[in-house]
Order: sequence, then structure tokens, then C-alpha cells
Amino acid sequence: MGRPAVVLGLGNPLMGDDRAGLAALEALRSAFAFEPDVQLEDGGALGLALLPTVEDAGALLVLDAVHLGGTIGTVVEREGDEIPRCLSIKLSPHQVGFRETLALAGLRGKLPARMALVGVEVAGAEYAEPLSAPVAHAVPRMVDAAVVRLSAWGFKVQARAVSAAGRKIRIRGTVQGVGFRPWVYHLAHAHGLGGAVRNDASGVTIEAFGDAPALDAFVGTLVRETPPGAVIETLDCSPVDARATDGFAIAASAVDGDLRLSIPPERATCDACLAEMADASNRRQGYAFTNCTHCGPRYTIATEAPYDRAATTMAAFEMCPACRREYEDPGDRRFHAEPNACPACGPALVWCDASGAALDAEDPIAAAAAALREGCIVAVKGLGGYHLACDATSEGAVARLRARKGRDEKPFAVMVGDLRAAAELAHLDAGERALLEAPERPIVLAKRRVEAPIAAAVAPDAPLVGLFLPYSPLHHLLLAAVARPLVMTSANRAEEPIAFRDDDARVRLAGLADRFLIHDRVIAAPCDDSVARVIAGRPTILRRGRGWVPRPTRVARAFAQPVLACGAHWKNAVCIGVGDAAWLGPHVGDLESLAAYEALEESVERMCHLLRVRPEIVAHDLHPEFLSTRFARSWPAAATIAVQHHHAHVASAMGEHGLSGPVLGVAYDGTGQGQDGASWGGEILLVRLGSFERIATFRPLRLPGGEVAIRQVWRLALALLDDAFLGDPPLHVFPLFAGLAPDELARVRTLLASGFPMPLSHGVGRLFDAVGSLLLGRSVAGYEGQVALLCNEIAARGPHAPYPFDVERDGEPWLIDLRPMVRSLVADCLAGEAPTRISARFHETLVAATVTVVSAAVRRHGSLPVVLTGGCFQNPRLAKGVRAALAAHAEVYLHADVPPGDGGLALGQALVADARSRSCV
Ligand SMILES: [Zn+2]
Ligand SMILES: [Zn+2]
Ligand SMILES: [Zn+2]
Repeated sequence: MGRPAVVLGLGNPLMGDDRAGLAALEALRSAFAFEPDVQLEDGGALGLALLPTVEDAGALLVLDAVHLGGTIGTVVEREGDEIPRCLSIKLSPHQVGFRETLALAGLRGKLPARMALVGVEVAGAEYAEPLSAPVAHAVPRMVDAAVVRLSAWGFKVQARAVSAAGRKIRIRGTVQGVGFRPWVYHLAHAHGLGGAVRNDASGVTIEAFGDAPALDAFVGTLVRETPPGAVIETLDCSPVDARATDGFAIAASAVDGDLRLSIPPERATCDACLAEMADASNRRQGYAFTNCTHCGPRYTIATEAPYDRAATTMAAFEMCPACRREYEDPGDRRFHAEPNACPACGPALVWCDASGAALDAEDPIAAAAAALREGCIVAVKGLGGYHLACDATSEGAVARLRARKGRDEKPFAVMVGDLRAAAELAHLDAGERALLEAPERPIVLAKRRVEAPIAAAVAPDAPLVGLFLPYSPLHHLLLAAVARPLVMTSANRAEEPIAFRDDDARVRLAGLADRFLIHDRVIAAPCDDSVARVIAGRPTILRRGRGWVPRPTRVARAFAQPVLACGAHWKNAVCIGVGDAAWLGPHVGDLESLAAYEALEESVERMCHLLRVRPEIVAHDLHPEFLSTRFARSWPAAATIAVQHHHAHVASAMGEHGLSGPVLGVAYDGTGQGQDGASWGGEILLVRLGSFERIATFRPLRLPGGEVAIRQVWRLALALLDDAFLGDPPLHVFPLFAGLAPDELARVRTLLASGFPMPLSHGVGRLFDAVGSLLLGRSVAGYEGQVALLCNEIAARGPHAPYPFDVERDGEPWLIDLRPMVRSLVADCLAGEAPTRISARFHETLVAATVTVVSAAVRRHGSLPVVLTGGCFQNPRLAKGVRAALAAHAEVYLHADVPPGDGGLALGQALVADARSRSCV
């Protein structure tokens, strides 16, 4: 190619007719197609900066506004030396700059061989947006003159086909980093459309041009289908003027410093990648880090937003030419797959001994599989942290793992190779199967088969088992090589946060793991496995982590200022509210150790960093002793706002469903400090985001020994009976009490009889503990909530009559009195009724009591939406029962994407704090 022809549009875009040259350039660009030897340059009001452009040009065509004294709107043409003279009549400062550029190029002997000017007469330059009418009408004539001139110089100019119609489509949601733009690109090509797709601050914008029917079909497909991984929250489509285009393109991102949605969550290995890994002729056969835009790590490797390879821990790996080709080809599945890698250029596995020193192993997967089959405990580095893995069928291995971790009876999660293997361990309905195979790949709680071929120690007499399928190539390879289900539990001791840094893991897992299967891709952020269960027919997230983080909850009213909410004590997760989005962070865990506190700090810092905010409003639980409260108070903020626990639970459900209130909130859980210092947890509240009113609660249960009673559930059972039988409980009915140390039983009875003040609990969770203890003869819970869970799970199916109960409506709040129930329940036990039926009737009593109170509240406050929230609504029977019974009285909302338990609390705290901070102003 010889030296190019440069078409230079000049003018100041803000000065009315002075921008005529720019308008002509724009019109030329959209109406005609050029070969690469014609360059269209927007010179604007640049002066000497244009010198290189001018000097490099073989031919120069200037489009500009002129002031030669002719009629406004006349198109004039000048050549060669005449051009500077046109510019010497001073019109606008930009022309002074350009005249000097030409003069300088002339002095240096570098003026283009051919030069022409196409100008339009204008009156003058003054600040104005649009062109005046005569000048606007002249623009097409300027274009014609330019085309004639370029053709005369021998350059090829071709008119573009003009499209019949145009659409502008804005899509919000998870549409970046998931192969969405290439998908749109292919779709547009398939429909024969022109235009472009680009990422912007809140998602993707598409401009498409072509025949109206093709456009409609294109938009229809966008609405109906999405590529895997993409989640469309909203899609707005509006008509725009038709425009000539040069095909369809993937345009550069619109950068405006607000790319908040750009990091997508992790997704399980897709079928196409699995097929490549299994293909002996593929360069990624057996490669443990295979991924594409549809699958792979994202959040856990991101160090910065926006999400781009340079801002991930994959920046350390330089792509080989083959990988780079895929990465740069819009037609490829790996176009901008940021973690793209292959065995030649990407991360590699290392097999290590118990100290973390590398061992000589040709095939680390095979070595790990052999060790696991021999009963070893292997620390496996995954996406969001390390797992401790062992053979789930080996009693010895699982017992060893339990002993080393210092884990109580809490069940371990089990990874199985596929759905068929999962079905051997648990009864799975269609919803549970779909959830297991969902690309988020949560741990799914399902009813365990009695004959399930796994070690008893995996989930000691638990009715449920947590199962999940492989979600990374490494897991697929490992499970296939071991060919047995594996316990895969977060690598930590007891309830510490998950280990994810290599050096830290080596120290913390010393003595826990016999071997390490690691790799050299750095984990930027910890992210635990998510836990989900199908409740009342819907997948419900119980623990939110990998696959769901970061995914925003859109709120009904945008946050007035950024808010940080620090969550609760148990199952901590934090939340940041900014704009119209609330971002729940990943599960941090129970704040019972310094390590957990540090993990909370890190979680907050990381979220603030990625969202580029430093909230000045900070929300925390009312409980003064929680470490999350202490953290909140240590944060430098303009306002620190304490939010009552159950108010936050209800607000969390409101936030999830976009309800701005008022609502009736049913918040049932185990505990939570109330404003009176008592422990609440059986609450029916009238809630506006900024305030609440307590409508009803349960008659409180005394907690003899305080917190001790949470594990020693027999104390709760005794207190329940003592209250119902006015200090003379029929203990002989229950084998439970015969099994206790007589003096301890006597001591607690004396305590109850003394009327000595003791902590009170309104919590529904504690009622489940007490009734479960009586029905199952369990004196102690192996972990918090264990007895309550057993009590839920034994309940017989089918309809059962509720027991009697009272509601005292004399005072405020109303009190639900279950003492009549307790007396009937004892009578049933005496009569030899099966515990399964008694538990079912107990559930029905709670349902009936809830409905009685809520329907009375509806009569008093009018028909309001009802939200069901709190850890007790992880109990499917209770959730389903209350929802069904209330359906006739109100619109009922259950949690789905936000955990009903304390893991979802921070979302509600953020919303309450936002509402309160507005009323303070
Ligand atoms: Zn893939
Ligand atoms: Zn490569
Ligand atoms: Zn709670």
C-alpha cells in the first residue's frame, strides 16, 4: 500500500456551524465504505498535533467550515496553495492551528502531493449544539464533493447499503465475561444484521440495523435464549434511525469508570470443555485447567475490576500462540475467556507430601487417586480454597478426618462423579437433580438413602446428605480416577474459615492432610462451596458462595449512599449496598476465632476494593458482643446503625423480592437479641424498611443455664414441660429423663422451681430443640440445630391435625401460647403415638398458630404481603405448610437466592440502615 489518502474533518464540536467539517466526515463514514488506503480522521480542533497525520498522507482532503464571504451554506472547493489562504481569514481558533500545521509541513518539505479542501460557508462560530439549517442541508453536498474528489484521485469509494430499520437494545445482568458478546455477534450474523455490541457500565448495549422482520427475530431470540452463564435481568429495546453499517462488530467496552458488574461468578466445566478433555487428539486432553467463556474460575481469580486477564491471577501465565488465537477470535468459544490456558502455557498440578514439598509424580491425578483409595487424606487446591478429601466409603479414613479436623457430628459434603452416583446415595426428585447439575454446582441437601454405600461417619445418623458434582476439570479427572464418592470438606479446623493461600494452607493443614494436590494458579479470593436445598418446590440457597458471588440483588429504591452491613455472628456474610444493587459477599463463617474475624475484615476490604466504594454508613446487629458488631464499630464511618436481628431478616426477604413495605414478616429462627435484651426468634412483625412493630411472638421458654441449654437440649425439654404443667412435669413419660444424671436433673428442676431469673427465649428453633429432645430421647445436640433438624425430618407426611394452642391478645405483642399443645403431646406420648406423627402434628400446630396470628394482623392492618424468613424456614415442611395455609389470606414470599438464615441477614441490615440514614438527614 502506498501512502494513504487522509480525509480530515475539522471543527469544534461545541461551536455550532464550526463543526460542519466533522458532520460531513461522519456522514461520509456512515454512507460509504472505503479500502484501507483511505483513512477518515476526526481532526476536531487539534492544531500541531495533526502534523504527523498530514505529513504521512499521500493525499489530503480537508472538510471544514469556511468564511469567504459567500452565501451561507454554499459548498466551496479549493486545491493546493489556495487552502492556507482560505484558512487565513480568521474564523475559529482551530483554523489558526491547522494553518500553522500546513505551514510547518511545507517548511519541512513534507506536504502531501495532493491536497484539497471541501468547505461550507458559515456565518461564524458561536456556542451552539446543532448546525444551522442551511449548513445542515449543505452537508450531503460536501459528502458528494468529497466522494468525487477521492474517486478522481483514484481511491475506491463504495456506497453502503442503507438498512431499513434499527434497534437499540440495552441488556442488564450477568452478561460480561460469559461469552455473551460473541453469542450476539453470531446471532446478528445469522440474521444478516449490521451494527455492534459493546460492554458498558451495567451490562451490554447492542445497536442492530437491517430489515424489520430480521430485527424482530433477532430480538426475539435474545429474549428467549441466553448463552450458558448469562443472566438477563432486564432487556430494553427501542427503535433508532436506520444507519448504513459495515457488518456487525464486537466493539470496545464503553469505559466510564463504573464497571461494577464486570466480574461474573464461577461456573462448572461445560460439556464442550469436557469433550475436549476426553478427546485424545485434542491439545487439552486430560488438562486440569481447561475452561472457556462458558465455564471456569472468575471471581476467585480476579484481582481488580473490570474483569480482564491482566487483572486476574492468570496474568502470570503468558498465552501460547494457539491460546492467544482463540482468545482474540470473536468466532471462538474462548474469545476473551480470561483464564484461557493449555498444557503448553497454563497452570500445572503438583503432587506434594505432608509438608507441602513436591514429590516426583508423572501424573499427579493418578498419584492422588491412589493415595485416596489407600485411605489417605489429601488436601486438594480448588477454585475458592482448599478441600480436604478422603474416600467417603472408608470408615477409617472418614473417622480420621473427623478426628483431625476436630469436627463434631456435622455432616461432611460428598462429591460424586455424576448424577447416577448421586442417586445411589440419596433420594432425588427432579428439582434436586436439576440443582445438582446447575452450572453453579452447589452442595445439595437431599434425603439420604438408608442403604447408601458411604461410611456412617460421613453424616452420623443425619437424615440428609450434602452431595455435589465435580465443577472443575481437576475434580472431574480426580473423581474419574478414584471411581468412588469423596468427602470434600472445606480445608480448615473446626469452624475456621477456608484455607486458600498456599503458604497459609501448608501451615494450617499440617497434621490434617497426608498429601497435597496443588497447582500454581493463585486464588485471589476465598469462596466456599454454596449449599442449597429444594424447599417448597424451589431451589433455595442456604449458604451463598461459589456460583452466586458476586451476583447483585436489585433493590426497589437505590441506596442514598453506599452502605456496609456487617452481618450476624453465625454464618457471617457481609453486604455492600451501592446504587440500585446490594452485593452479598461470600460466606465467611461463624465468627468464633481470630481467623474468622480476619476473614471478615478481608471480605469487606475486597468488596470495597472491587466496588470502588468506602461506605460511610455501617450497619450491624443489635447484639453488642458479636465480633461483627465490634468490626462495625471499628470502621471509620459517619454513621453506625444497629439493626434488630429479625427486622433485618424481614428486610432481607423484602430486598430479595423488591418489596418496599409495609409487609408482615414472619421471622422464625433460634436466637437474636431483641430490644428488651431477651432472645427473640418467634416474631411476627409489621415492617417498613426503616422501622418495625412487633405484632406477636411466642410465649417465652426459660433457658436454664443460659447458652448451655442450646447444646444440652434436655434442659429446654424440661423447661417446656415445667411451664405447661405448672412446675409439676410428668417426667416419667419420657425415657429421656431417666437417662440423665439424677443430681444434675434435680439441680435444674430446683433452679426452675426457684423462680430465679434466667434468660428467656422466644425462638421457634428452641421449641424444635425441646420437642425433638422429648420425641427422640436426645439429651444433647451434637451441633447446634441437630436435634431440631432431626425433629423436622422425622415428621410423617400427609395431613395431620394441629394440637390446640392459645393466642393471648390482651397485651402488646400478642402471645402464642403452646402450653395446651405440650399437654396434648404428652398425652399422645403416653398413649404410645408414634414420634413421626407427633412431630407432624407439632409442625401443623406451628402452621396453624402462624396463620391465626397473621390473618388477625391482616384484619387489623389490611392486606399486606407476607414474607417468611429466618433459619426455621429452611425446614421444608414448615415453609410449605405456612405458605399453603396463608395463600388464601395474602401474597406470600419465601427466600430463594438469598439465604433465609443468618447468611442472608446483611442484605436486610443494609436496607434498614439506608432507610434510617435518610430519615436522619
Ligand atoms: Zn467450557
Ligand atoms: Zn496455551
Ligand atoms: Zn437469625
